[in-house]
Amino acid sequence: MNLNDYKKAVELLNLYSYHYYVLDDPITTDEVYDKLYHEVLEYEEHHKEDILSSSPTQRVGDTVSDGFSKAPHLSRMWSLEDVFDSEGLQKWLTKTYKLDKNITFYCEPKYDGASLNLIYENGKLSQGITRGDGSVGELITQNVKTIRSIPLTIEHHDKIEIRGEVLLYKDEFFRINQERAAKGEAVFANPRNAAAGSLRQLDSSITASRNLVFLPYGVGENTLVHKLLSEKMEYIYALGFKKPPLSAICKDFDEIETVYEEMNKNRESYDMMLDGMVIKVNEISAQIDMGYTVKNPRFSVAYKFPAVEKITTLKEIILQVGRTGAVTPVAIVEPTNIDGVVVERATLHNFDEIERKDIRINDKVIILRSGDVIPKIIKVLTHERDGSEVKFERPANCPVCGSELLDEGVLLKCQNLKCEARVINSIIYFASKPCLNIDGLGNKIVEALFESGLVKSVIDLFDLTLEKLLMLEGFKEKKSQNLLDSLEAAKGCDYWRFVNSLGIEHIGEVASKTLSERFGSSFIDARKDEIVALDGIGEEMAESVLEFVRVNRETILKLQEILRPLEPKQREEAKANPFKGKSVVLTGSMSESRDVIKEMLESLGAKVVSSVSKKTDFVIYGEDAGSKYDKAIDLGVAVLSEQEMRGKIEQA
Ligand code: NAD
Repeated sequence: MNLNDYKKAVELLNLYSYHYYVLDDPITTDEVYDKLYHEVLEYEEHHKEDILSSSPTQRVGDTVSDGFSKAPHLSRMWSLEDVFDSEGLQKWLTKTYKLDKNITFYCEPKYDGASLNLIYENGKLSQGITRGDGSVGELITQNVKTIRSIPLTIEHHDKIEIRGEVLLYKDEFFRINQERAAKGEAVFANPRNAAAGSLRQLDSSITASRNLVFLPYGVGENTLVHKLLSEKMEYIYALGFKKPPLSAICKDFDEIETVYEEMNKNRESYDMMLDGMVIKVNEISAQIDMGYTVKNPRFSVAYKFPAVEKITTLKEIILQVGRTGAVTPVAIVEPTNIDGVVVERATLHNFDEIERKDIRINDKVIILRSGDVIPKIIKVLTHERDGSEVKFERPANCPVCGSELLDEGVLLKCQNLKCEARVINSIIYFASKPCLNIDGLGNKIVEALFESGLVKSVIDLFDLTLEKLLMLEGFKEKKSQNLLDSLEAAKGCDYWRFVNSLGIEHIGEVASKTLSERFGSSFIDARKDEIVALDGIGEEMAESVLEFVRVNRETILKLQEILRPLEPKQREEAKANPFKGKSVVLTGSMSESRDVIKEMLESLGAKVVSSVSKKTDFVIYGEDAGSKYDKAIDLGVAVLSEQEMRGKIEQA
């Protein structure tokens, strides 16, 4: 890098920062930003005379946006130095040990949200201020007061600044994006931007509607006398703030690496997005001695997790037809490695989304792969267009059977019941794990059976014989016999599996269980009012069941005769107890596996469901309970700890 490149890089980083911090709408990935930032840092280390005061290495965040009043922090807020691998960690440790040998380390997650400073005076929350440029931030006290995990009063009367991160739990992020997409509004790229954008709203009622969460990670000005940061944090949690899902005190490199690996391995299981682990010297006196650079504390470092967002090119959009006839667009992208997995496809949700984001073939895009969810395109880098991009035309005909598609706006549907894709996908679904769980009936085999003409519907599966299968290419005796055995084994399945395997629109595993338990094989004669009366089943689902039964009665009866699914066991009537007939949600980790507790409650006549609504009677929580607990409080649903639940059962 020469001086000219350096100046250009600083300018580009500042442009990225403006979009990231001020507009909450980044135009590149953290990975690209971090790489360029470190190139700039390296140049500056060797050319101290060239350092520009506007360089991002010389300041925290960006300028404060004009929409809000500004307020100073009582003591400065900082950024964090970052490392990306064991080598970086080792270097940081060597540097830190040079300052003090007798230190230990407090490790906790690095939350991916927006930083916030809370000032309490005489036990009352007096100001909430964003980090801003580290000295002055935006005054957003009214918005902050809408966040339920921020106590308005605390049992601590000296003036204190409590610092932490405001974030959105992942499920709340998906909920908000679903709602926005349904209203035709632009969706947020990731929970971080959504949290920062929600916090910095001029209208507090918008902030209030977003269920933001605050997790403290430190203090600014304070009169606390604890010798260790870990003790200070315990004190802060005891004032009524949330605890991190995991924290640890480590003695050395090996212990830090172990905690980091555990956190990284489990990162998807936490309610919130984490982008790394923060390591802080635990001894406060050593922290004071080490002090700060212009930008970071010397006693702390962010050990980043591998990036889950990458930039790639959209090469093609292909169309898939599902078992219900819904046609979905899928993006084929330039293969890119994300955290060890090569990603070649990404979901595009629906056709409206393509139009709203103006996604074009050849566009540079940011793709996110997180956990088990299918990778998605979260951003189109329109500023990188060079004119070679091609608009995508909404299809008018089914890509598989050619019949005209029904255009429902968000959804396009193939209405041809005999469309090959629909039939094949419904057979694949019929055989899948949560349905009849038929081993040896994967996608390729279903396609081969369909192509051969032997299987044109699920009923045909049960007419297969060894002779017929052996005539097909690639079907040897063992494979054929195994398939026939698996089909035989599906007979006598649980009744709910039978209902689920029918593939009734809107009826998944939970609803299939509810319907089976209530009606058993007479579900085909159930009336609408009887179905709607069931917990968790609404109008649309009931209509869907009735319509399916109306059209497919003969097929259902025939399949039932072949499969002879078991009528659900009528549970013994439970004795009177506080949970009988109640709808219960479990959250957090408990002393036994949640399945065991679920079973116990079901034997008491409770119905254990997965999401909290106004109809829920109890939310029973264990350790590290997350958004379900918060939602229960919000809706006024009774919450019980595991111990309280056990107490009630014993008393009954
Ligand atoms: P940072 O996010 O790397 O670290 C500092 C911040 O981490 C703190 O202010 C705090 O808010 C947060 N944090 C979360 N958990 C914490 C914990 N347990 N303890 C202490 N702090 C915790 O630094 P930064 O200066 O806010 O931002 C720099 C980073 O932001 C870059 O590394 C880059 O990844 C990203 N960025 C991206 C773009 C982009 O365009 N994509 C632009 C600018 C910055």
